[in-house]
Amino acid sequence: MTWLDLPAHHPFGVHNLPYGVFSTGGADRRVGVRVGDHVLDLAACAERAGMESAAVWRAGSLNPFLDLGREAWTSGRTWLVEQLTNEAHRDAVQPHLLPVADVTMHLPIEVADYVDFYASEHHATNVGRMFRPDSEPLTPNWRHLPIGYHGRSGTVVVSGTDVLRPQGQRKGPTDPAPVFGPSTRLDIEAELGFVVGSGTRLGEPVALADADDHLFGVVLLNDWSARDLQAWEYVPLGPFLGKSFATSISPWVVTTDALRAARVALPGQDPEPLPYLRGEVTADGAGTAYGLDVHVEVDWNGTVVSRPEFREMYWSPAQMLAHMTVNGATLRSGDLFGSGTISGPAEDTRGCFLELTWSGAEPLTLGDGSRRTFLEDGDTITLRATAPGLDGSVIGFGECVGTVRPAR
Ligand code: CA
Repeated sequence: MTWLDLPAHHPFGVHNLPYGVFSTGGADRRVGVRVGDHVLDLAACAERAGMESAAVWRAGSLNPFLDLGREAWTSGRTWLVEQLTNEAHRDAVQPHLLPVADVTMHLPIEVADYVDFYASEHHATNVGRMFRPDSEPLTPNWRHLPIGYHGRSGTVVVSGTDVLRPQGQRKGPTDPAPVFGPSTRLDIEAELGFVVGSGTRLGEPVALADADDHLFGVVLLNDWSARDLQAWEYVPLGPFLGKSFATSISPWVVTTDALRAARVALPGQDPEPLPYLRGEVTADGAGTAYGLDVHVEVDWNGTVVSRPEFREMYWSPAQMLAHMTVNGATLRSGDLFGSGTISGPAEDTRGCFLELTWSGAEPLTLGDGSRRTFLEDGDTITLRATAPGLDGSVIGFGECVGTVRPAR
């Protein structure tokens, strides 16, 4: 299979090959590919092979590569697989494999625009019940369009970056007036983030059938959320300071090419969406509006407290992308959109603590016996995920880690 000495089912085997940005010993940031427990220094490898395109790997972000578009992404992958599986390339490639423990990982993309969706019916229903107990949990528009909001791209941070507890205004329903201070209901949202490449021109929507030309890859995404700030500020324009203080993403971008075998049909949409959001049937049965069979794990200080399944999501990433551009809004390379909290029907598949503790009423017990409702200073959250790959392989996403630090 490969000249690399990799155990079968290694989550970073040759069927995966996610891209990231790394540095060593204070040198410039550059693009690498994760293979096994190593990072392939792509620029060095491509320059040795005499490839002109090596320049895109010298960049400090994936954006120049994202600009090249779908054909270049797929041919780059084909070249990589050849380098890593054909014994003839071994002596040329091996010197450019660096132990992952010896490199520093950075934000993989220069985030252009950031949008966060709300695509889990179970999450939206649970939140509706808690935030608006006297009305229908799902708003009338929910099953007709993937709801989202524009977030703050400048505060997207790479896994491992500490998260400062935000300060802000809050006012409980029975409080006479708002107060200011550190959030007392700091939460997470376990999501997938979709990395977009190949920009579009203003006024030209991306049809659902063309979404794959722009969907480069997938990261784990933690949408840190201050529920007390959010509850007071969100009417009528939606999330603002309760979420814009930090969003963490994993350093490795798993390509949509690597996730071909993870495509599944959506659980079902009723009513049928409007034509621009309607998928077509495909040979693999998943359709052009496909879901993804990604298994996520939420770890709180070493205790796994939830196992959300992405295949339960109501809206497809391709539908989100089509909807996001249907008004003529442009895409830019480096755009990032989050799926929204991944929550399934079972309690232990809920992707945030608001739901897992039912707004703090039902504390979780961690492995050390401590009880938690919302995050305390010093708490560490780790998201992990895997998906099925080609030929029975496992596609690993690695980890998205963040530790909460006290408010300043
Ligand atoms: Ca979110």
